[in-house]
Amino acid sequence: MDAAEFRRRGKEMVDHVADYLEKIEERPVYPDVEPGYLRSLIPTEAPVEPDSYEDIMKDVERVIMPGITHWHSPNFFAYFPAASSYPAMLADMLCSAIGCIGFSWAASPACTELETVMLDWLGKMLQLPECFLAGTHGHGGGVIQGTASEATLVSLLAARCKAIRRVQLLDPKKSEAEILSKLVAYTSEQAHSSVERAALIGAVMMKKVPTDSLYAVRGEMLKKILEEDKAAGLIPFYFCATLGTTPSCAFDHIADLGPLCNQENMWMHIDAAYAGSAFICPEFRPLLNGVEYADSFNFNPHKWMLINFDCSAMWVKKRTDIIGAFKMEPLYLKHENQESGLVTDYRHWQIPLGRRFRSLKMWFVFRMYGLQGLQAHIRKGTNELNQSLLKKITKSREIHLVPCQLSGSFVLRLAICSRSTEFRHIQQAWQHITQLAFELLQEHHH
Ligand code: PLP
Repeated sequence: MDAAEFRRRGKEMVDHVADYLEKIEERPVYPDVEPGYLRSLIPTEAPVEPDSYEDIMKDVERVIMPGITHWHSPNFFAYFPAASSYPAMLADMLCSAIGCIGFSWAASPACTELETVMLDWLGKMLQLPECFLAGTHGHGGGVIQGTASEATLVSLLAARCKAIRRVQLLDPKKSEAEILSKLVAYTSEQAHSSVERAALIGAVMMKKVPTDSLYAVRGEMLKKILEEDKAAGLIPFYFCATLGTTPSCAFDHIADLGPLCNQENMWMHIDAAYAGSAFICPEFRPLLNGVEYADSFNFNPHKWMLINFDCSAMWVKKRTDIIGAFKMEPLYLKHENQESGLVTDYRHWQIPLGRRFRSLKMWFVFRMYGLQGLQAHIRKGTNELNQSLLKKITKSREIHLVPCQLSGSFVLRLAICSRSTEFRHIQQAWQHITQLAFELLQEHHH
């Protein structure tokens, strides 16, 4: 295929993609195929003579589409959302065309620098504390990982390294193997399986912390286990909190858990893979209160922020914690600016060496939607759902509120009315509303 044919086929492909997405509702959302269906539809070996482009495109419909689960169908309610938008798709085309492998600043300065700035932009949208931003002189900063699983693993490995160094500093005779056998990581019993997997890969013990009636971990629950484990000679070193658990979107109480982790010299990582995008809306931002105690924080813009997979945003408070844990310096990767203190070499922040120019997708999406457009996407909910929620709230008789109409939206108002209302009443009201909203959404999906 030469450039002239690429131009023609490229335009056809854009039409094909737009047609696919515009008419996706007509396709059955879940494929009706048996395991192994595809092998019988294509030859057993790669062609010796080239196939034509037309034949390949015909086979997309014949071979591929029957076996696709259409994640972007409006009838898809499984797993979690996979974000997608036209600006992100176009940016991904450009990313493929540039095709750089931006493992170091020198390997493509724009790839590295745009990523650092985009993670600062996004961090500011979330109102992350300043210490998580790179800025020009910060000690923190962000990185795009492929998935939340990688972010959790990287944080756990960095925490492991930090804990081993800390213990050896106090007791240089202790071997690494001896310390490793005593290290314990903790997470909620409701945490995603990738958290437990990180501990498996990191070869450390992991304990599950029980949750309260709303499936959230509270400070006192972790404290109790820590006391027992320390008394048994174990070394607690890491806690992974979840904001928005996979089964029920529960939020661990990081404002209690954070100070406890800090006090115990434990690394607190926050996994907000799914719910994190919502924190760009001021009304959801309080759910992130306590992030100031965390050592690292992660969420997936590729779930709910219109940026196609893969794009998992991770921030650390002290980037030396991560860089120090994974640094390798073969001669062929060195470059003259790496010690200048002005550049980031993302190869030290992740497990693979290679990395795509993923920040382009962020840049296109952030600019084409603006913060307001992204917030509107998060807030998208029907008036009917809000009306049903209000009916449920009224019927429950636990709290009382009335609605209002704002720019055509049916809005639930929560006004602080009574002289005797305390913070705990607001918290209880909020928990009650989120619980009923969750039940409503479940009924709605069924
Ligand atoms: N953590 C939570 C809370 C999740 O909901 C998910 C995915 O559903 C993950 C982690 C795993 O995400 P990833 O596929 O990015 O590793």
